[in-house]
Amino acid sequence: MEDCRRLAERCGYVVADCYVDDDVSAWSGTTRPEFERMLDDLQARRIGAVLAWHLDRLTRHPRELEAFIDLCDRLRVKLGCVTSDVDIGTHIGRLTARMLGGLARYESDHKSERIRRKHEEIAAKGRASGGGSRPYGYEADKLTVRPAEAAIVNECARRLLAGEPVRSIAADLNKRAVPSATGGRWSPQSLRRMLASPRISGQRVHHGEIVAKAVWPAIISSKEGATIRALLANPERRTNRAARRYLLTGLLVCGHCGERLVARPRTGGKRRYACAKGPGFSGCGKIYINADDVERFVTAAVLIRLDSSALQRALEQRQRRAPDAQRWLQEAEQAQAQLAELAEAYGQREFSIVEWKAARKPIEQRLTHARRQLAKVSRTSVLDRYIGNGAGLRADWDSLDLSQQHAIVAAVVDSVVVGPARRGYNRFDESRLTPVWRP
Ligand SMILES: [Zn+2]
Repeated sequence: MEDCRRLAERCGYVVADCYVDDDVSAWSGTTRPEFERMLDDLQARRIGAVLAWHLDRLTRHPRELEAFIDLCDRLRVKLGCVTSDVDIGTHIGRLTARMLGGLARYESDHKSERIRRKHEEIAAKGRASGGGSRPYGYEADKLTVRPAEAAIVNECARRLLAGEPVRSIAADLNKRAVPSATGGRWSPQSLRRMLASPRISGQRVHHGEIVAKAVWPAIISSKEGATIRALLANPERRTNRAARRYLLTGLLVCGHCGERLVARPRTGGKRRYACAKGPGFSGCGKIYINADDVERFVTAAVLIRLDSSALQRALEQRQRRAPDAQRWLQEAEQAQAQLAELAEAYGQREFSIVEWKAARKPIEQRLTHARRQLAKVSRTSVLDRYIGNGAGLRADWDSLDLSQQHAIVAAVVDSVVVGPARRGYNRFDESRLTPVWRP
């Protein structure tokens, strides 16, 4: 801008306006609002000359340059550049301008190609990419392990693998004032991202795929990393926000149409379950029930049920019929190990990404199946401590978090059918509720 002002002074021009498109690359195809404004001003004859630092600052695309030359011709606009003496009023000036423009285009294309290849090469060698923020567990050089944070990474990985939910681990870190990489608090999302990142197991990712063994040291093993990613990718683990605040999400069934009720607070925030109708829902919209009431009732019923000898007998029977937990655990571990081996082989460039994806598929299917079987077994294992000990569970109940409470209720109750409300009956009406106990 300084240079252009000086040039204007030398040419004896009065500076009418300055047009600056900051941070907008003329290459990316996005519009340049200031450039457009300048064209408007030219057309309106508010300005009679344009000065630029270099032609490639003015137009960076040959098409744009041609249009601009046409416009200048038509309006007899003078063009000046600080760095070159181009007069597009002459043939030789135009030729120079076109050549400069073409050259700039070539350089830009060439540069982005070069950069892309450079990034690929860096990734394939397992080296860290430049830029970005400091990864958790490592120093700013992205290579040196920061021991205090590495200990936290290990702790979190161990707790996650032991079955603790991500959000509970994040809450605990915040309670202990353990800062994240940026010095802030942990969110379940940021903790999940950190734990799922192949970086902490010393693997280099490029465009979302593990491409090489990294040059930096691993904090957890690649097998642990693969297990964590498989665990976090398991949709059965995922709980939505509503499920966390609503004990019975997925367990209540509409007595009218048979759809599952969903959390639907009243305007004003009073918690409520409803048979939802409308976009994305397939319910009838006829059944609503106050959440506090139904949760209190179902909890009480579950606690009584857990004390009954009938449940104990039923569980023992099921235990006998239940698939062998050890077998499925082994199956899951084998599949995970194979996935890790595959990733490693791929990292060493033993086969292509397409082959890798094809090889992964059957193993992932086996893993999913094994997990489902395991989930069936673990649904009852959450109860082991409490069978025949309803009093113990009653004492512990309030100290359990909602996901634990939900797991216990879901282990005992298949569903609770919610019938229509009686007209004119305002109090809680337990005759509306019919629990369906698990066999
Ligand atoms: Zn319904």
